[in-house]
Amino acid sequence: MKAILFHQHGGPEVLQFTDVPDPEPRPTEVLVRGGLPNVPIPLPHIPGSDVAGEIAKIGSEVTTVRVGQKVVLAPGVTCGKCAACISGQDNRCRQFTNLGYMIDGGCAEFVRVPEVNCLSCPENLSFEQAAAIPLVFQTAWHMLIARAQLQPGEDVLVLGAGSGVGTAAIQIAKFFGARVIATAGSDEKLQKARELGADHGINHKSQKIRDEVRRITNKRGVDVVFEHVGTATWDDSLASLALAGRLVTCGATTGYDAKIDLRFLFSRQLSLLGSYMGVKSELHTIMKLVAASRLKPVVDRTFPLAEAAAAHAYLESAQQFGKVVLKVL
Ligand SMILES: [Zn+2]
Repeated sequence: MKAILFHQHGGPEVLQFTDVPDPEPRPTEVLVRGGLPNVPIPLPHIPGSDVAGEIAKIGSEVTTVRVGQKVVLAPGVTCGKCAACISGQDNRCRQFTNLGYMIDGGCAEFVRVPEVNCLSCPENLSFEQAAAIPLVFQTAWHMLIARAQLQPGEDVLVLGAGSGVGTAAIQIAKFFGARVIATAGSDEKLQKARELGADHGINHKSQKIRDEVRRITNKRGVDVVFEHVGTATWDDSLASLALAGRLVTCGATTGYDAKIDLRFLFSRQLSLLGSYMGVKSELHTIMKLVAASRLKPVVDRTFPLAEAAAAHAYLESAQQFGKVVLKVL
């Protein structure tokens, strides 16, 4: 089969479009033929953690999906047997890994996955749209709902509205009845954020985030800050929190050095919450809401699989609003 393979880490130039042997499903696994976006790691390696496609082959013990069925894949692969897994907290499994991270992913014609990772693909979605859902929606849902316990009527600051997780967070926060303040680096992106439901926009290139948040919330601050940017926004994120506010973070794209004044942390009764991926049951809920058109994937651009290097270069240019998808079929 054709696949995107890399033998070393580096920039987009390390991604090679090449021939590799077809994978064979084990008894409890399926083979999915499909399309996807995203993410780079043992070498040589096939990246890609978000996949939607059609079941091409099933293992001898597979019972819940059939050949030809259209599916979207949960990106988290776990042992399925430990206390964390059986309690539904599978993102706390010590063997947790992602498709495309420590195991081969979906930047290929076929990807081999456990049966439990398959969810039916809603009829109202193309594969490109479906592949734009799992990672970002699951991550944003887990951050806002499981970790920050967002309540109706609360104020949320969503940083990086044009990112995949940002577009998901805006929609999920609105779905739960929160007021959303979104930040982005251009007015065009802020306009798109408003179309997704954001109530207010802050252009972080021309406005100071903490000042705008103070103005919009009548000096109160927000209940929840949705962080994934890191060093560049950390101080503004903390300064934007209301008394007893919660900051939840899943990333640090601009750097991981951060400072906090402990007097500020305890006297303002703040919570700092780390979040990583999400649990499979959350993705089941998300797919129901997507099928009902209550949540929608945001696809910026689609590239053919052979142009994976160009797609990664485009991602690095930070022009996109939403996800960039590679098309296999
Ligand atoms: Zn486990």
